[in-house]
Amino acid sequence: KDDALIALDNLADRAAGLVNPTIRLGVTGLSRAGKTVFISSLVHNLMNGGRLPLFEPVRSGRVSRIRLEPQPDDAVPRFQYEDHIAALVRDRAWPESTRAISQLRITLDYESASGWGRLFSSGRLSVDIVDYPGEWLLDLPLLAQDFHQFSDATVRRAREGTRAALSRDWLDLAASIGAEAVADEGSARRLAESFTAYLKACKEDHRSLSTLPPGRFLMPGDLEGSPALTFSPLPGLPAGRAPKGSLWAMMERRYEAYKTHVVKPFFREHFARLDRQIVLVDALQAINRGPEALKDLEQALADVLACFRPGVNSWLSSLLTRRIDKVLIAATKADHLHHESHDRLERIAARLVGRATERIGMSGAGLEVMALASVRATREATVNHDGHRLPVIVGTPITGEKINGEVFDGERKTAIFPGDLPEEPEVLFEPVDTDTRAIAAGTAAMPDINFVRFRPPHLEETRGGLKLSVPHIRLDRAMQFLLGDRLA
Ligand code: GDP
Repeated sequence: KDDALIALDNLADRAAGLVNPTIRLGVTGLSRAGKTVFISSLVHNLMNGGRLPLFEPVRSGRVSRIRLEPQPDDAVPRFQYEDHIAALVRDRAWPESTRAISQLRITLDYESASGWGRLFSSGRLSVDIVDYPGEWLLDLPLLAQDFHQFSDATVRRAREGTRAALSRDWLDLAASIGAEAVADEGSARRLAESFTAYLKACKEDHRSLSTLPPGRFLMPGDLEGSPALTFSPLPGLPAGRAPKGSLWAMMERRYEAYKTHVVKPFFREHFARLDRQIVLVDALQAINRGPEALKDLEQALADVLACFRPGVNSWLSSLLTRRIDKVLIAATKADHLHHESHDRLERIAARLVGRATERIGMSGAGLEVMALASVRATREATVNHDGHRLPVIVGTPITGEKINGEVFDGERKTAIFPGDLPEEPEVLFEPVDTDTRAIAAGTAAMPDINFVRFRPPHLEETRGGLKLSVPHIRLDRAMQFLLGDRLA
């Protein structure tokens, strides 16, 4: 049934593609990685003559017209570009982050670079940008796990490191109720709430631990409060089957319902139809938080990347009739660093991706890694400090931001020394155990990064002052990788 549905979807996509060539570009990343800001800036730069020297079709003047068009999927919310860009440009405030899936179609008219191309291509490409939470991808491994395995894996992680203290209330509650107690809605809800609170706590208070499945517990989309989300893994399940009428049986049933009604439809209806993908990662934030956060990010990245090249026998690989041929992993917010560190950030991200792919036994073909800033909120300067010239970045800290005890009001600018990333990425990472493929807990040396939240910048003048567009770092390189060949 799945195969038939996806075949139909694909057929419809292809038929539409003959009339109007289309590329479906997925934009994902964990919460706060920068998806909304990326899409808003990309579209604004395309439509407003942004500075895009590395995006060849625009630089060479072959793109004549760029516009937003109604998206093809009526049942998917539209990416609210106008609201987001108004916040960013008019109010100089960061837009509201991604909470669920959304879509936006942008259409480009272009002249092919070659005579053959001009003869045979329509000279029009629609890009359907699909924005969705990376948390949802973390659910894929659940499809291969029964409730027992899911419970064991989740409880094991919950007892490690920083998580142990955060999960205590939930695990105590689960133990006091007992898996074999009579099923009742009140207990189910209390357990689900306590489990969700634990997952949330991992993300809060600057802990920045990466998310664990089930993804919808943190990013429920339109499922908030529904029975499909009212379950929890259970500790210490004995071997064998759940007793009839027990809490265990009830949780197991809901877990299976979550997989059938939430996880599978997302992969079938949205994920399986993507042609290209960008995965945004906030590597800087993780480095700033320390080794545990970085290790967690690596694990989450491995889980996300595994979705793009699933093993031949997995449920997903049978769905992926059209394969995502290019995946870009982009370390965002590079404007928090001086440009001398941009390449270093890129190398750290590449190492992170390399380790993640090695651990899941995936090839790096079709993968590219970059460091970028969708929006450059800072500019660079040098200051004299004790006779040394120090590279600094200058920006307007957001209202309430504290630096060295001083509270900022959202208007005043300041210069900060951003800190240096190491030349050699390896020093940041713990060794990986070659047998278990687990990351050892060691003492990776983390650099001191001065991480200040800045307000979005004023627009920059482009095309000799005729246009105003959002300043960025290397966004054009990302566009070239993701779209350049389709506009050749
Ligand atoms: P999402 O959850 O992935 O949609 O994340 P957002 O796009 O909403 O970004 C989360 C936050 O990260 C924003 O509110 C900004 O504070 C920050 N951010 C995202 N992109 C950039 C960037 O390019 N430069 C800077 N300085 N901050 C960014």
